[in-house]
Amino acid sequence: MKNVVGLLICMLAMLLVAGTVFAADTYDTVKNRGSMICGVKDSTPPFGYVDPKTRQIVGYDIDFCAAIAKKLGVKLEVKPVTSASRMPQLIEGNIDMIAATMTKNAERAKQIDFSHTYFLTGQKFLVKKGTVKSLQDLDGKKIGTAKGSTSEQNAKKALPKSTILSFDDYPQAFLALQQGKVAAVTTDETILAGLHAKAPNKAQFEIPNIQISDEPYGLGMRKGDKKFVDFVNQTLLEMEKSGEAKKIYDKWFGPKSDLPMPRVFRIVADK
Ligand code: GLU
Repeated sequence: MKNVVGLLICMLAMLLVAGTVFAADTYDTVKNRGSMICGVKDSTPPFGYVDPKTRQIVGYDIDFCAAIAKKLGVKLEVKPVTSASRMPQLIEGNIDMIAATMTKNAERAKQIDFSHTYFLTGQKFLVKKGTVKSLQDLDGKKIGTAKGSTSEQNAKKALPKSTILSFDDYPQAFLALQQGKVAAVTTDETILAGLHAKAPNKAQFEIPNIQISDEPYGLGMRKGDKKFVDFVNQTLLEMEKSGEAKKIYDKWFGPKSDLPMPRVFRIVADK
């Protein structure tokens, strides 16, 4: 009898533990842990890259993570992810949130939830100066981009005769362009501009005004983490209202930054 009661208590305890592990909303998990783990890029300036002076990962995406962690009253930890690894890392529970130049779209939203749009850009091409006037100049050529990106899919549609070479990240694709192995690198304009701005031989390259898609960025969270998603969305709207979102934008893209670009969006609630 004693054994049966013991066994029942044991089973009940196991069920309770399993319940908290599997059913807890990330909001509670993060609060209990005292830290939030953000999956970010580490070689995509100005969104996420290693600051050569401090050796820390910094950037627009990291500043959004930091603001959300501060609002939650927890420490921020960042973990580098790639375009291909970010969704598996989130789904497997290795990170709490994706803040990694990630476009929100219906296909991805089948697997994860997205916040309101916190950045807006569009897909373009980085090429050797004077080589490309229109999209037709690129069809049939080799084009570099990153694995697991929307850039890869959009390029296949826009340039059906081209060979799309997918690298782990965009600096590798840019290296292939510099070595003459591809005719262009394609991804979001702001990522291309960030790579271009940091290139030592930047006068040899340009981004022609050829845009093949709109790319609205969302913060990625596990499906069904309603409390966390609501909290993050609420924080984003507050950041827009208080001017903090614009302040982060101006730090990386304002007139005094390396990449002056007008802010063509505001953070608003999704319909
Ligand atoms: N924003 C696009 C995407 O989410 C391209 C940039 C990236 O690879 O992160 O796929």
